[in-house]
Amino acid sequence: MNVRPKRGKMNNGFDPAKIDKLDQRTRELVNRRNKLLGPAYRLFYDHPVEFVRASGVLMYDKEGNDYLDAYNNVVSVGHCNSHVNNAIKNQIDILCTHTRYIQEDILNFAEKLTSYFETDLSNLMFTCTGSEANDLAIRIAKYYTGNQGVIVTSEAYHGNSELTSSFSPSMGENTQLGTWVRRVPAPDNYRVSAHHFGRWLALKVSEQIDDLRRRGEGIAAFIVDSLFTSDGVFFHEPGLLQPAIDIVREAGGIFVADEVQCGFARTGIKMWGYQTQKITPDIVTMGKPMGNGYPVAGIVVKPNVVKNFGHDMRYFNTFGGNTVAMAAANATLDVLINENLMENAQLVGAMLSSEFRKLKSKDERIGDIRGAGLYWGIEIVKAGKTKQPDRIAALKLVNELRRRRVLVSATSFNGNVLKIRPPLTFSADNADRFITQLEAALETTR
Ligand code: PMP
Repeated sequence: MNVRPKRGKMNNGFDPAKIDKLDQRTRELVNRRNKLLGPAYRLFYDHPVEFVRASGVLMYDKEGNDYLDAYNNVVSVGHCNSHVNNAIKNQIDILCTHTRYIQEDILNFAEKLTSYFETDLSNLMFTCTGSEANDLAIRIAKYYTGNQGVIVTSEAYHGNSELTSSFSPSMGENTQLGTWVRRVPAPDNYRVSAHHFGRWLALKVSEQIDDLRRRGEGIAAFIVDSLFTSDGVFFHEPGLLQPAIDIVREAGGIFVADEVQCGFARTGIKMWGYQTQKITPDIVTMGKPMGNGYPVAGIVVKPNVVKNFGHDMRYFNTFGGNTVAMAAANATLDVLINENLMENAQLVGAMLSSEFRKLKSKDERIGDIRGAGLYWGIEIVKAGKTKQPDRIAALKLVNELRRRRVLVSATSFNGNVLKIRPPLTFSADNADRFITQLEAALETTR
């Protein structure tokens, strides 16, 4: 059967029932993990991987085998980037303290980062994780609007806190959504003609706003991952989101762009995913790649939206915006800009895209290819043009690629979309190795 993973399972998660199939060392480590870390963690792959070091786009196991990392978007300027690491090391030897003291570096970094946003997005607040950033954004949205309702896409993921998990349907049926949360379908331009998407989405949003209003919740925020990555990676030409945002604003809500996945030049076109849509959010949330692995995240918000929140309450986050976090974020941004990694994402992304399309023309299992820059989703379907998702075939490919020492994973409700998002330093040679192995994996799993 080709159904969704069972309760508590995860796309591309290791199945503990198959522990006997592992080599002795992996088995021992998995057992030790379970004993020490408890039952809630998941491992990737049928045969989990143990890594001991990494450099650039390569990760190494204990035997010194290199794995091509086509999955980890956190280390977007490359694993163990020396410029970022030296900045962290230097700073931690001088000072590491919090935002209740004046420090010029946080201001310098804030000036630099906000220069990549539209002028009215000018207040920067720091957190440690993307979850905290979304949590803060929604608290501000609720306070600003006086409303409670939050609209998300049907398989959205926005975080793991009590608040954010209640508007993260991709966590599965056992994670309860808030009574003030409504879902709209992801704009699936593979199955539904893209022609009227803007108006279609606006209609769906408007229906949910009506429902929220009737129940006394009102609309606080419409929050969207600009590449719909957990919904299955959907990239759209400009125009998709504006009509829905207009309706949200007319109803008194605000628009939040969750850029945790697609921010910091990932699309190869613009610094922020929402900018490919030519829209301006009221709040933008950021995380993952911001410190190249050091936990740095935050929000950029319009001053009028955060004004009363900041006046009536206070905000403090012990580690958010600390001196070392700022050094890491500043150095990461410098590498991103100085090494032209947005251009690299565009160039190498275009190569990947054209190779993916060649593979698609030869293999009916590849139903669709979506993405931009260095974020791609390859949708795996059953042969016969029915567009029926094939989760099992997708998982076989993910595991076969892992066997060939190439790291990817799977996304979407059905878990049948290969998720490809390497560090932005991915080169043409890396793309070559990736395509060679993908082609071979398609062949082996045929
Ligand atoms: N938003 C999106 C779109 C994400 O993908 C994630 C993490 N996968 C988060 C928020 C939460 O970020 P974190 O894990 O840093 O809390």
